[in-house]
Amino acid sequence: MFQDRFYLKPYEKEYDATVKDVIQDGEIYKVVLDDTIFYPEGGGQNADKGTINSFEILDVQTKDGVIYHYLKEELKKGDKVHLVLDFENRYQNMKSHTGEHIVSGLVCSTLDANNVGFHMGKEFVTMDFDKFISEDVLRDIEKRANEAISKNIKVKETVLSPEEAKKITYRSKKELNEDIRLVEIEGVDRCACCGIHVDTTGEIGFIKLLYSEKYKTGSRVYMLASNKALDEFNKEYSILQELSEMLSAEFENIPSQVKSLKEANTALEKQIKEIKLESFREEVEGLEERDIRVIIKKNLTGYDLKNMIEVLAEKSTAIAIILSKEESETKYIIKSKVKDDIKANEVARLLNDRFTGKGGGTPELAQGKLEEVNEENIIKFLETKI
Ligand SMILES: [Zn+2]
Repeated sequence: MFQDRFYLKPYEKEYDATVKDVIQDGEIYKVVLDDTIFYPEGGGQNADKGTINSFEILDVQTKDGVIYHYLKEELKKGDKVHLVLDFENRYQNMKSHTGEHIVSGLVCSTLDANNVGFHMGKEFVTMDFDKFISEDVLRDIEKRANEAISKNIKVKETVLSPEEAKKITYRSKKELNEDIRLVEIEGVDRCACCGIHVDTTGEIGFIKLLYSEKYKTGSRVYMLASNKALDEFNKEYSILQELSEMLSAEFENIPSQVKSLKEANTALEKQIKEIKLESFREEVEGLEERDIRVIIKKNLTGYDLKNMIEVLAEKSTAIAIILSKEESETKYIIKSKVKDDIKANEVARLLNDRFTGKGGGTPELAQGKLEEVNEENIIKFLETKI
């Protein structure tokens, strides 16, 4: 075990191999090589990327101890092939993975916790623990993790038999009864692991713990390492710069500025609502009372409609309807004063059926929207139905 080339030479970027077997699975060819520099997905670490004879590898998986390289192109048993590893991607994985060891080791020893999960996502690395991690502890771990990086500690990998392994203490997510690969970062962590790591912690460069959230009965920690941490910092910094320019505020004043803007916006929205309603009141003031009143407006919110229908209902003895025209639909609200005679939800149903609409309500009040945008069609239809 652990004799694959990616374990023995984790920094090797190219290699010549021989095809041992090819299994066709639909449009995919699963290629087995005599040895490989491509790490298959496992132990929380992603499968490597790269090419075999310039053909892109879609995935690398292990089944029953055999490593399969997934290709769209066909290769033949006995073919001599040239492997090229996407080392930038792999090196980032090695750094993220080793960073995970440092952080998990520190969390477990500090809180007497267990690491119960690890995942290398497209964006973040996540680690799950069975204990709650406070913000203070998280920042302390982050600081100590970066200290471990600056000490440039050797990452030692040794393969031990189950008997040898019994004599020492190490972290492991599961009970192991076979050879184990022990990964040790002196003073920080000792863990059974089948992933690929950097030689020395200094290569990681920098670890950023973003935050920790409640997960099951413990917590999940989000981490970025090396270039990924730098990319995230740059992305977030440029957002802050843009906000700072927009608000003409220093970074630290952005939250208070946004808070003031939100408050001002809420006050304005309230004023606009009041003005709209007042103007509607003036608009319908001179109207005579009628059995049926239909008014057409534009771009009203649900809140506007609810307020305005009360005003319009005063000008009808039976039923009041407001249609609000939008770009691709027409909103409606219906209020019935004589619900036993003309039910609002019944009129809504007729409209929905005729104009592909959605909505409903009670016999007194109904609300919805129609796909029809020609108000004349709606009015004509209403005239024939009520
Ligand atoms: Zn590992």
